[in-house]
Amino acid sequence: MKTVLATTAAAALALAGAVGACPEHDSDGHLEARQAKATGALAGYFDYDVYPKAQAENVTKYIAAAKAYARDDVYPYYARDCNFYSANTKLDSAGNHDGLAPATEVFKDFYFVGLSSWTAWAYDTGDGLIIYDTLASAAEAENIILPGLAKFGFTGKDIKYVFISHEHFDHYGGAKYLQDNFDPIIVASKDTWAAMEKLPATADPAPPVRNAKAITVTKDGSEITLGNVTTTMYLTPGHTNGTMSYILPVTDSQTGEKMLAGMYGGSGASSTAWSLGVQATQLVRWADLSRKKGVKAFVSNHHSRDHSLYHIEEYAHRVCDPKGRHCNFAHPWVHTPDWYYRWAMMGSYCIRAQAARGGFILSQ
Ligand SMILES: [Zn+2]
Ligand SMILES: [Zn+2]
Repeated sequence: MKTVLATTAAAALALAGAVGACPEHDSDGHLEARQAKATGALAGYFDYDVYPKAQAENVTKYIAAAKAYARDDVYPYYARDCNFYSANTKLDSAGNHDGLAPATEVFKDFYFVGLSSWTAWAYDTGDGLIIYDTLASAAEAENIILPGLAKFGFTGKDIKYVFISHEHFDHYGGAKYLQDNFDPIIVASKDTWAAMEKLPATADPAPPVRNAKAITVTKDGSEITLGNVTTTMYLTPGHTNGTMSYILPVTDSQTGEKMLAGMYGGSGASSTAWSLGVQATQLVRWADLSRKKGVKAFVSNHHSRDHSLYHIEEYAHRVCDPKGRHCNFAHPWVHTPDWYYRWAMMGSYCIRAQAARGGFILSQ
């Protein structure tokens, strides 16, 4: 029998501060934002956040640098990633609440099986499925991931690997359910495993268990190959200590074009000067290494980052001729290596801007 979705995105977001979700969902307390309270007839309105410790000149400098990288073509991503905390965090979070999204084949054999708030991806490798991130709870794994797989003819028994990008519940929350029911190999970095193992026994959702077949990633650039898919894993701390990012091959289903996709494991800000500095530095490293490899497809574990929900709607109307030579528009998740490089560089400066808003002095 199916269980009812016990942990809605809204409920999960309400818990975000307490149990360690991505701070981009922490709409009230993050970086000591203070709200100018509306009164009287406007008391029920969203408020406009301000930052009492902001280094205004640095914020100006960093968002200008970010925008220079973004230019016009990355602007929609810059607009949100660099400015959302100060503009209106509640409005931004509202866009992340409780939304169902259709499971969609985005690239050949590569499926979006997520929600509006957070994303899980499934890859049919030809020798079983890999799941990249597991949503926020057992209920979401059961009621979102599994029906998404079923839509394309798969069951939980087809899952061979489950990759966990980092130690926030909106990414590992469904992993224990998948582990208990289908026994896949769970893959996470050393620091993500350590953080999940430190959680109290009462943690809800419970994290997956590092059993005998689990894999602990300790080396930057490690690879895991299943079927015809090799996932290269990079240790990219900053958002959390354990954050792991991936480069993987994808194929445009309509044109047959093969390319590399980048999936940065945690783009959101963190809350200490040290981790913000690490994050800014890692995003520059990611920009360089992904440019060297020619990464041009952009997928993320949050719609707020890669705009997957808009893309899903648009992609349903992409039409190519039978030989895939001409399409009515470009694949929405595909850009150019230069675009992807500038997106990552922009992200680095957005993290610096965010640090400056919080009054942090970065040492790197
Ligand atoms: Zn997250
Ligand atoms: Zn996170």
